[in-house]
Amino acid sequence: MNNLLNKIINDTKIYANQGEVATYIPELSKMNKNISGIVVVDMENNIYSAGDTNIKFTIQSMSNIVTLILALMDHGEKVFDKVGKEPSGDPFNSLKRLTNINTHKPFNPMINAGSITITSMVKANNKEERIERIIKLIKDLSGNKDIEINMDVYNSELKTGDKNRSIAYFLKDKNILEGEVCDVLDTYFKQCSIEINCFDLANIGATLANDGISTISGKRIVPSEYATIAKAFMFTCGMYDDSGEFAVEVGIPAKSGVSGGIFCSVPNKMGIGVLGPSLDKKGNSIVGIEMLKILTNEKKLCIFN
Ligand code: GLN
Repeated sequence: MNNLLNKIINDTKIYANQGEVATYIPELSKMNKNISGIVVVDMENNIYSAGDTNIKFTIQSMSNIVTLILALMDHGEKVFDKVGKEPSGDPFNSLKRLTNINTHKPFNPMINAGSITITSMVKANNKEERIERIIKLIKDLSGNKDIEINMDVYNSELKTGDKNRSIAYFLKDKNILEGEVCDVLDTYFKQCSIEINCFDLANIGATLANDGISTISGKRIVPSEYATIAKAFMFTCGMYDDSGEFAVEVGIPAKSGVSGGIFCSVPNKMGIGVLGPSLDKKGNSIVGIEMLKILTNEKKLCIFN
């Protein structure tokens, strides 16, 4: 496996030229678009890796899976009274469907509108407690006790997050988002700014692949039914408005973030974490997708095989 991963890193580096790092959050533009890394963790907790796997980057909308799990643990499927289950087919930060349809319900928990609503549903007495719960679940899912927020990225999001502010105020006006908009957004910007590496992503994916049980500690982290729901949303909505294409070309549950990370959960087989900061037009890692195409093809991982 390590040989295959090294070959994958070398064969896909060239694709970085075809995209750009995210710049709309200025701090993210500092990432080197030519780095790339890949980690695989199987159900026996064997770890395989290649490339720039120790580099830290922010989790961005890969955190949407974590908050979804917390909201499900807090409210059960009542979560879906507020947020739908359908792919939107629009860019992740689009306001188009939100303002067009009668119910104004965000289409799914993976787009920004849905994710911000989900964050508002994570139970806590105050915003400090809410972000602590999110960080705690990321620590438990990844088995990494040293997870922290990158305050430079957080401040950068705070300065430039007006699109997210407009989404949140609109949702508040429609009685979908509850609580103080400022507090909810503060948590949302912080959750997106949590730092992880490819090992953390692969471990999160492995825990979900292992029915919600950590392959590191052997402890149940996520109820089985919510691990299943998380993988379903990863599959249908995890790669933004490219989820259908990814389902056909790669065929595994995956969640992407604008930092260039993608984590995947291959049921009962493995978790995969990849990094490649150069993004395509939809906001997905170009190198990351190419790496996953080769790996899934070589190892016959498509869930419909
Ligand atoms: N923090 C980013 C935003 O709100 C997350 C987006 C993403 O990773 N798709 O725009």
